[in-house]
Amino acid sequence: MESYFHSVTLDEKKCKGCTNCIKRCPTEAIRVRKSKARIINERCIDCGECIRVCPYHAKKAITDSLDMIKSFKYKIALPAPALYGQFDTKYARNKILNGLKSLGFDDVFEVARGAEIVTYATRKLIEKGDYKKPLISSACPAVVRLIQVRFPSLIDNLVKIESPMEVSAILAKRKTMKLHHVSDDEIGVFFITPCAAKVTSIKAPYEKDKSAVDGAISIRDVYLRLLNNMDKSNESFELEISGAEGIKWASPGGEALGLGIDNYIAVDGIHNVIKIFEEIEKDRLKDVEFVEALACTGGCLGGPLTVENAYLAKSRLKKHIKDAAKVNDVIKMDSLTITAQKEMKNEINMDDLLLSDNGISFQWKENIKHRPIMKLDEDILKAIQKLDALEKINNNLPGLDCGACGAPSCRALAEDIVRGMADETDCIFKLRERVRQLALQMSELESKMPPVLDKEQANGDGE
Ligand code: SF4
Ligand code: SF4
Repeated sequence: MESYFHSVTLDEKKCKGCTNCIKRCPTEAIRVRKSKARIINERCIDCGECIRVCPYHAKKAITDSLDMIKSFKYKIALPAPALYGQFDTKYARNKILNGLKSLGFDDVFEVARGAEIVTYATRKLIEKGDYKKPLISSACPAVVRLIQVRFPSLIDNLVKIESPMEVSAILAKRKTMKLHHVSDDEIGVFFITPCAAKVTSIKAPYEKDKSAVDGAISIRDVYLRLLNNMDKSNESFELEISGAEGIKWASPGGEALGLGIDNYIAVDGIHNVIKIFEEIEKDRLKDVEFVEALACTGGCLGGPLTVENAYLAKSRLKKHIKDAAKVNDVIKMDSLTITAQKEMKNEINMDDLLLSDNGISFQWKENIKHRPIMKLDEDILKAIQKLDALEKINNNLPGLDCGACGAPSCRALAEDIVRGMADETDCIFKLRERVRQLALQMSELESKMPPVLDKEQANGDGE
């Protein structure tokens, strides 16, 4: 069986078996058995929804510690644009970037810059018109996994361009090798992440063997030290390399806005994303050019590894966007042109970089594959028989989807029974029925029992 890495895991000691998480999971990946939750590996898409809803903090995301950077000669931090919204607006973006650098990094490369490059590449793709409508953003790894497991018919709609994080890592490494003469394996690139799905996409990428990113450190883990460093340090390297376009990616609609088109949908929250994907499958969004779909409500600002309330973070981000746009106004160019020119200074041609196949292209090397999670058996005949049995069991269950059995729905319990992972009596209604039947049988048997004789009768003394 294929093995899967997952950032989202369960701390069994903390789990109280309350079943809060089972119904929120978009891929029915959680069961509660013997009063403990269990994640079905092949179904989990690391969306982090269960981290948010668990009242006992029993679900967590595994990330790398800051100490890990010490194993590399040259260390680069890749901050997600969502980082800027975590701090009071008195901290300018460059102050935040310098604070991050002072945690032990040699350089900082904004992922917002990578986002601008992806925007540029997507615009080119739309201009060419050679794609399946609607084009679906591939920036959110939880959404890409969702498509892999639940909506395989939409795989061809995905934008097959590396994510801003990957693009930034590739560029940061190339820049460092060129300027500092260190080899690829001496450079450690660390994403400062708001979400668990990004961690999984680094440790187990879906469209290639290895990510260009070496580790992921959660925003939560660096937040306090970063805040402290910003207050103490007066260091000021010029670390801002992104324009407003890239920073906007942190909140819903930010990516789509940069494409310069009107007919797009920006949807956030994994359950809303599912509804939109169902509409696409029904062919009802034919007129839509582009779908920006983000698993977290509030986009990356609402990621489970952030610190600040997503709405407050969004309001703070506006200042950074405005400041970045002001710089653009002064130079009278849009931010993509400015940053494109910056790239040129490093002798990189944007079009060559993005669209050619000269070894540094940011197009996916291969397409992602469907990861079937519903297959009941490898043998097609057995699978049909099992499906038949599943339908019969399901029809026999009460259909209340109460979750008391530890499965998210009656159908999921029926499937578990067919797979040999549960029993019909896990359903409390079926258990009650069974107990009632047993009680009836017992009373019937009791009526057939010979009368109880007292001692004298048994010895025949009564004759
Ligand atoms: S929400 Fe899920 S993981 Fe958390 S305590 Fe309840 S059953 Fe356990
Ligand atoms: S991370 Fe998402 S997909 Fe995975 S178990 Fe939790 S809710 Fe389900």
